[in-house]
Amino acid sequence: MAVLKVLEWPAKVLETKSEPVEKVDDEIKSFVADMHETMDAAGGIGLAANQVGRAVRVLTIMIPWSESRYADQEPEKKEPWHDKRWTFINPVIKKKNGKIRWQEGCLSFPEIYEFVDRASEIEVEALDENGQTFTVEANGLFSVCLQHEIDHIDGIVFINRMSRLKSSMVKKKVSKRQRLGSVEESVNDQS
Ligand SMILES: [Zn+2]
Repeated sequence: MAVLKVLEWPAKVLETKSEPVEKVDDEIKSFVADMHETMDAAGGIGLAANQVGRAVRVLTIMIPWSESRYADQEPEKKEPWHDKRWTFINPVIKKKNGKIRWQEGCLSFPEIYEFVDRASEIEVEALDENGQTFTVEANGLFSVCLQHEIDHIDGIVFINRMSRLKSSMVKKKVSKRQRLGSVEESVNDQS
């Protein structure tokens, strides 16, 4: 197992539509294990394969349930999808219902948190890490996270789901931070 490098936007692979997995073989299984390890190490609740540079339709999710997650709010209800390690290979959204607005973050956009509108409930069919077909109904954060990750493998990043104004603000913030980052790097290079 290995922790892979998580790519930041504007890496081109993040805006590339990913190819389906043809066969869930040992190589894909070990890649899935690496993705879970990478997601945990990065402190994310979801990860798409193209975020680690590989344009295949694979995503991982693990949403811990913790009463203390929002200290100033009512404890969230524990759902069956909490604390469960999910792998979705070739996922397809079969049904969509309702609306939900959630403040989303993304490992490929460090320190950016913005509200995005999504369907509140979805039904998804996919293969698991053993190549078995399963169907799951998702609500709440699980539904939000699944739609965010399925967008990733379709080459859609969450700024594409924001208003034009919000998305241009985020782009400015990101390029400013990346400029500062490269200045720091060159300073370090000189020492
Ligand atoms: Zn993301």
